Amino acid sequence: MKIIQKGNAVSKGIGIGKAYLYKQYTPRIVESKIDNDLVAQELLNYQKTKFQAETEIQSIQSFLAQKNDEKAKIFQAHLDILNDIAIAEEVEDKVKNDLYTYEYAVHLAYEMFIEMLSEVDDALIKERVADLKDVKNRLLRIASGVAEANLSRLTEPSIVIAQDLYPSDTATLDRTYVQAIVTEIGGVTSHTAIIAKSYEIPAVLGIDQILDEIKHGEFVIVDAISNKIIISPDEVTLNTYLKKQQDFIAKREVTKQYLSQKPVTKDKVKVEVSINIGSANKEELDFEQYVDGVGLFRSEFLYMEETEMPSEEKQFEIYKKALSKFGEKPVILRTLDIGGDKELSYLEMPKEENPFLGNRAIRLCFDHMDLFKTQLRAALRASVFGNLWLMFPMVGSMDDVYNIKKVIEDVKKELELKKQAFNPNFKTGVMIEIPSIIMVADHVAKEVDFASIGTNDLCQYLSAVDRMNPMVSKYYQSYSPSMFRMMKLAIDAFNHEHKPISVCGELGGDLVAAPVLLGLGMRKLSMSKTSVPAIKKVIINHEMKQFEAVSKHILTLKTEAEVINYVKSQLNLED
Ligand code: PEP
Ligand code: MG
Repeated sequence: MKIIQKGNAVSKGIGIGKAYLYKQYTPRIVESKIDNDLVAQELLNYQKTKFQAETEIQSIQSFLAQKNDEKAKIFQAHLDILNDIAIAEEVEDKVKNDLYTYEYAVHLAYEMFIEMLSEVDDALIKERVADLKDVKNRLLRIASGVAEANLSRLTEPSIVIAQDLYPSDTATLDRTYVQAIVTEIGGVTSHTAIIAKSYEIPAVLGIDQILDEIKHGEFVIVDAISNKIIISPDEVTLNTYLKKQQDFIAKREVTKQYLSQKPVTKDKVKVEVSINIGSANKEELDFEQYVDGVGLFRSEFLYMEETEMPSEEKQFEIYKKALSKFGEKPVILRTLDIGGDKELSYLEMPKEENPFLGNRAIRLCFDHMDLFKTQLRAALRASVFGNLWLMFPMVGSMDDVYNIKKVIEDVKKELELKKQAFNPNFKTGVMIEIPSIIMVADHVAKEVDFASIGTNDLCQYLSAVDRMNPMVSKYYQSYSPSMFRMMKLAIDAFNHEHKPISVCGELGGDLVAAPVLLGLGMRKLSMSKTSVPAIKKVIINHEMKQFEAVSKHILTLKTEAEVINYVKSQLNLED
C-alpha cells in the first residue's frame, strides 16, 4: 500500500477502482529510410497498420451508433480518408521510390494533403484537415505499438489518471465507469475541474508525475475530500473507504432536499441562484425548475466538442433550445471564450509565450470577426424565444466595451437588412475578471446592462498566478482579503447604478465565499448545478444580517487563512 498526499481535491467524493492510465499520443517524426530489398515488407506493414486502424474506427463507430451518438458520422469521414486511393498511392510511392519507412511516408503524404486542403478557400474542405490529422495520428500511433486510449469505451469501474484531459476527452467520457479523475496539471478552476464537479466525479488535480507513480490496472482509492491517493490499499483501508464513500453519498443526498426550496434568508431576503452550463443537454436544462436562470452558458464548449466550426444554424438551434426552456428566466450566454487553456483543433492559433495573458476570449473574437458575428447572429436570432443576456469575457477596458457595442450594432443592422427577427430587449453585459475593469467599474456600470464576476480568472490576474500551474497553486488564494476588497468595488459600482451584478466563477458556488459575497451586497449567484443544494441550505439557514456582519469583518482581515477560519467559525460550515 502506498499513499500520496498532494494536489487539489477539486470535486469532492471518494472514488474506488482500477487505474486507467490515459496518455494522449504525440507522434515523434523521424526521417528514416529502408534498404531496397525491404520495400515489399514495408508495404505489407503499411497494409497491416491500415487494417488495424480500420478495425479501431469501425469499432468506435458501432459503439457510438448504439448510443445514437451523432459523432459516429465523424468516424465515417475518417474511414473514407483511410481508404482514399490518392493518399494510399502517395504513401506507397514514397516507400517504393524514395525508400522511406512507411511511417515517414505516411507523415509526408498526409502533410501534403493537409497543406493542400488548408489552402482551399472553402470552409467545408478546411474542416477535413482536422480529420486528416486525426487519421494520420492513428496510423502513426499504431505503427509505434501504442494502444488506443479512449475514455468513452471503458469496460469496468476506473480511476482515470492523465496528464490533463482535453475537452474532447471529457465530452466523450463514459460517466458510468469513471469513478474518479486524477491529473498532473490543472487547478481548482481548470476545465477538467469544472466538468468533474458538474458530473459529480471525485477529482484530485495537480499531482506532479502521478503517471509515473501508478501502474495501469493497479487498484486505487482516490480520497477527494482530504487529497489522498491510495495505491494498492490493504483490506482494512479498503473497507474504511467503502464506508466513507457510503457516508459521503448519503450526506450529499440529505443536502439535496434543499434543491427545490426557495433561496430566501431567515430575514426574508431573496437571493437568485442560477446555474452554469456548457451545453443545452436535457440534463442541464431540466434543472430549470430549481433555479432562477442560467448565470453562465459557457458557449465555447459547443465549439470544443466539434471538429469543425459550428454553423450559425447549429448554434441558433442550441441557443433557442436553452432560451425556450428557461422562458422568462434570464439565460446569460457568454460569447466564445477560447485561448488560455482552451483550444479549437480547427482554428489556427499562433503559439504564445503566455497564453493566459494573450490573445484569448473577446480579444480573439475581435480578430476573427466572421466567427464572432456568426455567433452573435445566432444568439440574437434565438433571442425571440426567451430572455437573452449576452455576456462578453475578458473585457479589460472601456475601449473593449465600446468595440463590443459597435459590433452588436453592426450585427443588429445586418439582421434588420435580412429581415431576420430578434428581440431588441436582450441585455448586454460583461464579465469582470480582469482587475483593470474593476478600477473603472463606475464607468462600465453606466454603459452596460449587467455584469458577472469571473472569480477564477480574477484571482489569476489579481495575484499573478497561472490558474493551471501546480507549482504556484499555493499563491492562488481565492479567499484572500484582496479578492473580497476588489470584488466589493465592482458590487458597489453596479448596485449604485441599480444594475444587476452576479458571480459566476467558482466562488459563486463556494460555501465559504458565497455568504461573504452576499454580505457585500451581491444578490445573484451562479454555480455548477451540484453546488445548488448546499448553497441554498446556507442561505435558508442564515440571516442576511449575519452575512453582512461577517463580510464587514472580513474586510479588516489580513490573510486568506484568517478569512477561511473566520467564516467557518461564524457560520458553522461543515467541511
Ligand atoms: C471565471 O473566470 O471565473 C469564469 C467563470 O470563466 P472561466 O472559468 O470559464 O474562465
Ligand atoms: Mg474566465
